[in-house]
Amino acid sequence: MGELKNDIQFLPGVGPKRAALIKNELEIHTLEDLLHFYPFRYIDRSSVTPISQVTPDVAYVQVQGKVVSRNLVNMKHLSVYVEDETGRMEMVFFKGVKWTFEKLEPGCVFLFFGKPQSYNGHINIVHPEIDSPLSDPSAQGVLTGVYPSTEKLKSGGVTGKVMCKLQQAALSLCLSEIRETLPDYVLKAHGLCPLPFAIKNIHFPSDQKSLAIASRRLKFEELFFLQLSLLKQRYVRSSAENGIRMPHVGAAFHACYNALPYSLTGAQQRVIKEIRADMSGGSQMNRLLQGDVGSGKTMVAVLSCLIAVGNGYQACIMAPTEVLAQQHYANIKKYLAPTGVQCALLTGSTTKKERRPLLEGLADGSIGIVVGTHALIEDSVQYRALGLAVIDEQHRFGVDQRARLWAKGPAGAPPHILVMTATPIPRTLAMTLYGDLDVSVIDEMPPGRKPVQTMLIGHNRLPAMYRFIKEQIALGRQAFVVYPMIFINEKMEDISNVEEGYEEILKAFPLEEGYKVAIVHGQQTGDFKAFNMDAFVQGRADILVSTTVIEVGVDVPNASVMVIRSAQRFGLSQLHQLRGRVGRGAEKSYCILVKDPKTSREAQQRLELMCSTEDGFEIAEQDMKMRGPGDLEGTQQSGLPINLRIASLSRDSLLLEEARHCAQGVLDDDPSLSNPRNSVLLRELRKGKYDIEDYSTIS
Ligand code: ADP
Ligand code: MG
Repeated sequence: MGELKNDIQFLPGVGPKRAALIKNELEIHTLEDLLHFYPFRYIDRSSVTPISQVTPDVAYVQVQGKVVSRNLVNMKHLSVYVEDETGRMEMVFFKGVKWTFEKLEPGCVFLFFGKPQSYNGHINIVHPEIDSPLSDPSAQGVLTGVYPSTEKLKSGGVTGKVMCKLQQAALSLCLSEIRETLPDYVLKAHGLCPLPFAIKNIHFPSDQKSLAIASRRLKFEELFFLQLSLLKQRYVRSSAENGIRMPHVGAAFHACYNALPYSLTGAQQRVIKEIRADMSGGSQMNRLLQGDVGSGKTMVAVLSCLIAVGNGYQACIMAPTEVLAQQHYANIKKYLAPTGVQCALLTGSTTKKERRPLLEGLADGSIGIVVGTHALIEDSVQYRALGLAVIDEQHRFGVDQRARLWAKGPAGAPPHILVMTATPIPRTLAMTLYGDLDVSVIDEMPPGRKPVQTMLIGHNRLPAMYRFIKEQIALGRQAFVVYPMIFINEKMEDISNVEEGYEEILKAFPLEEGYKVAIVHGQQTGDFKAFNMDAFVQGRADILVSTTVIEVGVDVPNASVMVIRSAQRFGLSQLHQLRGRVGRGAEKSYCILVKDPKTSREAQQRLELMCSTEDGFEIAEQDMKMRGPGDLEGTQQSGLPINLRIASLSRDSLLLEEARHCAQGVLDDDPSLSNPRNSVLLRELRKGKYDIEDYSTIS
């Protein structure tokens, strides 16, 4: 008994040295950890491909052939030719060449397994796994697990085969000890197999069907506990009566609403209702507002702020950059004009002189709404009664800042929080990352938005593109030319390509012919940047050359062309954001993606997707399918804050829905999980395995 918690070093074949290696590389400490380390794919060792049918576009093949020659080049490079009845191919080795040379005796038959590749017009496999030939007919259809591995593990002797042996040993020691983690009623309702069966078959499936059953059970479990943990947090929050109650709508709201030059879209109206219900309900609002670029989130934010004001509280709107804060401020001031609500702008570049009255106004409550950057939550900024914080683009908002904002509420009550994002996030990802937030989606564009025609070109068509831009300028339009932002280190941005680009544009659009070009990048001083930006916003410049500093929010309805240079270096969501900068005015707009000569096929495909759709959610879904969720923007540079062992947010979306639905049902019945039949769930949750890193939660 008690084997599960035992250290892996006591497993036959491990010992202290290998144990240390495995702990370092895989964070596997106990036999239990080991058993929860699953293969990421399986190979059917009984299926052999005839050599003549091997092509480089498959991930792996297995061929069986007789060694016909072996050639050792200066003890470093071993080339072995093998043949079967259909043909002949090369196996190449750069490591362990001496040993391999001796093993692969001409005339002997072996099984080779690996990734075929095309080299100088013929196909070979580098470092195939070598096995004795298939002879045992009972091995037919047997699936062998392939475990994630690292170079260090391999060179330390923990090969795939060794890993299989360790798993086998661990299983025979502990299989009987494995305890069920899901209640019986959940297993029954979802047709899930018991955990011991799942563990055994995930490592050593007796056939494809058992593997599918085992894998479904383990994926479900993983997704279920993740959702249970998130939804439970949400329950705790929404049942806490700690929210500032805001029962009124207020005169300011009506004054703004009645003066709007347009009527709200159905989606905007729905979302405002949701927000009103939250703010009046007695618990703290934690809502994520998703809406594509141009869907009209600003209006929703302003009306929400006015609800706070109408109840005697203040509101702040926090933007990720100074430029955006300024732009928000300018827009919002217009909306507020009919309301008489006083609004202020506070950023890092607000001067000392301006700051004093501003801070006083916030402290005495005469300023109702303040727009700004992170400067809004500095210690020196005191609010009389901050009742709502709107955060634009949450992924740039850190944990510590969140805590500071939290503390700004009146008399210890947390302000309501509304997070806005224009980065469409696939539903499954949103459910996971924001599972504990309430989500509102503006899924309808204001009328009058024109489709943006998108095209993909190579450098050879740049002259034609310049001619086209000139035509647009002649029609009175403006153009953006955006370069990727390349960082040397966290703070310093390499601006050489945008500066070269600027020179190129100046040559193509000379001042003598009346063209005016502005340039904006992260290394300019605030004044200089603002000067250039204003020149473009106000129409004095025809072209704005920039890095992605203009990415979010900048509103220039007169701009009709968005050129994106080195487009292959951008993520899809980012391209989508940039494209959203045009198509806001009355005229037809264009987005021209310029790819560099060495663009990979995969990047080319992503760019083609951009040309085929303008739907941000579809783009996000496809992006996730193509690249996996870890690389998605809007999550984190380093990938997801959660570590899924077996489930995939892109492939297992149906199972995720099922698991979430199940978790919701369990909590609806028994919010505190105090019913004895749920005690097993509480035990699992307390292990903390499913705690999502504190990242999406605002509270
Ligand atoms: P987002 O912040 O979601 O990208 P904005 O709030 O900046 O979008 O709105 C984009 C543009 O659409 C703005 O010029 C805004 O005035 C306009 N707009 C917003 N709501 C409506 C509406 N219901 N009808 C018409 N135009 C709208
Ligand atoms: Mg906006």
